[in-house]
Amino acid sequence: MRRVLVVGGAGYIGSHCVRALQERGDEVVVFDDLSTGHRAAFDCELVQADVRDAIALDRALSQQPFDAAIHLAAKALVGESVARPELYLDVNVGGTSALAHALIRAEVPALVFSSTCAVYGTPQKTPVDEEHPKRPESPYGLSKWLAEQVLEQLSASGRLASASLRYFNAAGAQPDGSLGESHTPETHLIPLALQARLGQRPPLRVFGRDWPTPDGTCVRDYIHVLDLASAHLAALDALVEGAPSGAWNLGTGHGSSVLEVLAAIERQTGEPVPWTDAARRDGDPAAVWACAGLAEQDLGWSAKHTRLDDIVSDAWRWARRPRY
Ligand code: UDP
Repeated sequence: MRRVLVVGGAGYIGSHCVRALQERGDEVVVFDDLSTGHRAAFDCELVQADVRDAIALDRALSQQPFDAAIHLAAKALVGESVARPELYLDVNVGGTSALAHALIRAEVPALVFSSTCAVYGTPQKTPVDEEHPKRPESPYGLSKWLAEQVLEQLSASGRLASASLRYFNAAGAQPDGSLGESHTPETHLIPLALQARLGQRPPLRVFGRDWPTPDGTCVRDYIHVLDLASAHLAALDALVEGAPSGAWNLGTGHGSSVLEVLAAIERQTGEPVPWTDAARRDGDPAAVWACAGLAEQDLGWSAKHTRLDDIVSDAWRWARRPRY
């Protein structure tokens, strides 16, 4: 049994990490300001505060010793980051630095950090491995890359072991329908398409059908949120057991196009998603998918829920009946 502080545990991926930790018997405290997360998404003690608040962090960490922390509290909208870069650098870099320093003061040895494939920018080649050049193209991607580098420096100096996990496209939901994705605003393909399918939104706008891909639409590596959660546990265990710090891609190693996602939704829901053609979205790369071998080699982790139809069917269960 470990004691784990999950910063950002009220969010989409965080709440699935909390659930996975609890299911194996770990004790969890969530630290979250509830600015975008949901109190109903987890069932454990909450410290409601901002990740940049050093006093609140010290207080939370001083109650009882923690074995490790997971950090997912971040601003995560690419478009908003272009409009407000100072906010993204402050919350995502400053917040990570504040948390890391508090963990060092409290002698918590290990931190698992929520990063993103946006640190790479437009892929120069696919699949994208961890050695791919880091050329983030938005303040969001830059803020995650800078935060990774803060952690890399601290781990190199022996102060705090860390694992930066670079997510590809998180999707899906808890299969029993108890947890899922509720973002305001929603910007992600699968929930938007499901809401269009339910008639809750206008037809989905497909951002470009003239990309240099097999069917002309963008290709992404959709990874089930359950697999993301299990990767956090694997990274946390590895660090606590003394494995070296590092950065790992979390993807399936397989890409799906927008039209393939829409076809999977039609198969799983029995009706087509209404959609229209729209212009390419600024900043979208044509195709991104992960080389996921390093996480398997180093952490013994690989994605298990890799069928697009399974990801979509779990997301559909949630979309029809969101609990928050
Ligand atoms: N996409 C789309 N219409 C939408 C939202 C997304 O065609 O309303 C496409 C987008 O261009 C990208 C893919 O769906 O190719 C996944 O986009 P999302 O925003 O979910 O994730 P991203 O890959 O940008 O992180």
